[in-house]
Amino acid sequence: MDGPSGTGKSSVSRLLASRLGASYLDTGAMYRAATVWVLSQGVDSTDVDAVTTAVASLPLEIGTDPATERVEVAGEDVTGPIRGGEVTAAVSAVSAVPAVREKLVAMQRDIAMRSDRVVVEGRDIGTVVLPDADLKIYLTASAETRAARRNDQNVADGRGDDYAGVLADVQRRDLADSTRALSPLRPADDAVTVDTSDLTKDGVIDALLRLVHD
Ligand code: C5P
Repeated sequence: MDGPSGTGKSSVSRLLASRLGASYLDTGAMYRAATVWVLSQGVDSTDVDAVTTAVASLPLEIGTDPATERVEVAGEDVTGPIRGGEVTAAVSAVSAVPAVREKLVAMQRDIAMRSDRVVVEGRDIGTVVLPDADLKIYLTASAETRAARRNDQNVADGRGDDYAGVLADVQRRDLADSTRALSPLRPADDAVTVDTSDLTKDGVIDALLRLVHD
C-alpha cells in the first residue's frame, strides 16, 4: 500500500490487515524511528555521512500486530515521539540517505518474508521493497483533502488548528518525496490507484476488500 501522507493510508492499512487476519507493517514509522535515533545521537539530519554512521547501529524493533502499535528504539517506546514536530520536519532528509533506505528495506523484506500474510504500508513498497506483492494499491487524495484531514486530526489531538501551515507541510513533503533521486514516491506500473478524496473510511475498506478478493 503506497501513497502520499494524509490519504488515510495508515488507518486504512491497519483496518484492512485486521479484517484479513493479516500482519501489518508501517514503514513510515520505521523511517520516523530512524529519525528519532539520528536526532538522539545529536546528529544533523542533513549531514549524510553522520546519518550514515548513526544508522549503522540503529537499534529498532517494530511490531506487526494491527491492533497495537509497537515501535522501540534502544528498548524505549517511541510511538509518541515519532509523531512529534521535530521528527516530522527531519524525516524526509533522513529517509533520503541511501544507507537508511538500504537498512530499512532489508528489515522490511525480512519481516514480510516471515509473515504469512501482511499489509505493508509506505511509499516504495510496490516499486522497490516488494515488487512481487500479490496486490499493489496506490492510495491518493488531493493535497487540500489530505491537509484538511491532518488538520482535523491535529485539532482533535489538541495540537492546534493551522490548515494553511499543514497544507504547506503536505506540499513540501510531497515534493521532497516525489522528486528525490532514491525511490521517489510513485505508483508501481501494476498498482491499482484508489482516490479516497470522496470516500469514507468504510467506503475505502470496501473497495480494497473487493480488490483483495477479486
Ligand atoms: O507514512 P509517514 O508519513 O509516517 O512517513 C514519514 C516519512 O517517511 C515520509 O514523509 C517519507 O519521507 C518517509 N518514508 C519513505 N519510505 C517509506 C515510508 C516512509 O521514505 N516506505
